Amino acid sequence: MKIENTDVLVIGAGPAGTVAASIVNKSGYSVRIVEKMKFPRFVIGESLLPRCMEALEEAGFLEAVKEKKFQEKGGAKFVKNGKICDYRFADQFTNGWQWTWQVTRADFDKTLADTVEKMGVPIDYETTVTAIEFHGSDSVTTVVDKNGIASQIKAKFIIDGSGYGRVIPKLFNLDKPSNLPPRKALFTHTVDLRREMADEPNRITIVVHKPAVWIWIIPFSTGVTSLGFVGDPAFFATYPGNTEEQLRALINDEPYLKERFKNIEFLFEPRVLESWSSTTDRFYGDGFVLTGNVTEFLDPVFSSGVTLATVSSQIAGKLVVEKLKGRSIDWENEYMKIMMQGVDTFRSYVMAWYEGTLDTIFFADEQDLEIKSQICSVLAGYVWDLDNPYVKNHKTGLQRLASMIYYRDNIATDPT
Ligand SMILES: Cc1cc2nc3c(=O)[nH]c(=O)nc-3n(C[C@H](O)[C@H](O)[C@H](O)COP(=O)(O)OP(=O)(O)OC[C@H]3O[C@@H](n4cnc5c(N)ncnc54)[C@H](O)[C@@H]3O)c2cc1C
Repeated sequence: MKIENTDVLVIGAGPAGTVAASIVNKSGYSVRIVEKMKFPRFVIGESLLPRCMEALEEAGFLEAVKEKKFQEKGGAKFVKNGKICDYRFADQFTNGWQWTWQVTRADFDKTLADTVEKMGVPIDYETTVTAIEFHGSDSVTTVVDKNGIASQIKAKFIIDGSGYGRVIPKLFNLDKPSNLPPRKALFTHTVDLRREMADEPNRITIVVHKPAVWIWIIPFSTGVTSLGFVGDPAFFATYPGNTEEQLRALINDEPYLKERFKNIEFLFEPRVLESWSSTTDRFYGDGFVLTGNVTEFLDPVFSSGVTLATVSSQIAGKLVVEKLKGRSIDWENEYMKIMMQGVDTFRSYVMAWYEGTLDTIFFADEQDLEIKSQICSVLAGYVWDLDNPYVKNHKTGLQRLASMIYYRDNIATDPT
């Protein structure tokens, strides 16, 4: 059997894998990526957050992505029963990036992968990791190529960025169920000929359709728009027919979409994804670290996936380099706790979204602009800025704010 040697093996060529590989490669250590699929490949997750620009910049990817002329994204618009709440990243509290992109992931991920390859990182496409043996922190990974031929890769360290593949958690039984209820998404790409009906395309729109059912509208620079419904699986069960019939009926039932997306062309048969939330309580071990979706993916509502993927790889990639240089790494404090700070902040916002707490805040008639700028920074992905009270007090702050708004708008003003 063929055996290759590398300092670092990266599993997966998504944003997590390529950012990590680039950072290790810059330090001079050898690194290679194994990727199960052939690129470009479809993946959902098209709305980025400004915080991920820092990770893309450090990985040396920004210029290549700029050349692709993806749609620039300057904020997020929330809509409910005709009411609009606009968040503009330019108004955010944290001193950081004020824009990012809305991307077709097939093109975006291929751009990152091609760029890292040009930097000298080999990528073995259509090659699947099937087994890993650890000997201390050294490892031997078995991979199988598209012709069914197995080979082995010896590495001093593994970065697992395998996304929904969850390679190391599955091989070593590290998976844990998420504390979020299962949800389902039904989505497609549309030829958005009536885009001028909406105040777009320089931001995404999130529409509250019913309690705990929402819609994403993500316009791309090509005139194509990504459209998806997310909610409890039981909600979708009330719509009969195939996925196209279901999506057309859902569009017809939502006043914000009905005219603009009436009889619109779908570029592919609407797809379904469900029960995507999963987690693990170990993001690292002797000889490996998990980055990106493998650590935990919560929910699509605040577009946190690619940002958490790239930021985790930005941090982990640098720690792996230091480990190879001989420094003893405190993975719990230098990695896991930092990632959980970001994940838990988003988790509080996701829960507040589905509980309706954020509806009260987003759609209040009177908005406190300072608080709005602080919440805007969370929506921009700056979930590590502890100077922001809506990051620092993420568990209690939103509830308290919603109660104050409710009191102000419903009780304090009630003359009876
Ligand atoms: C409905 C929905 C909507 C979403 N919307 C957004 C959004 O708007 N914005 C956002 O930021 N995120 C969104 N996400 C999340 C986003 O999809 C992910 O967070 C993001 O793709 C994570 O990147 P990653 O690099 O960790 O994993 P991936 O992009 O999934 O890449 C992992 C790679 O690993 C490869 N792989 C898997 N198993 C193996 C194996 N055994 N051997 C070799 N390679 C392997 C896969 O082929 C894949 O290419 C959404 C998710 C869902 C479910």
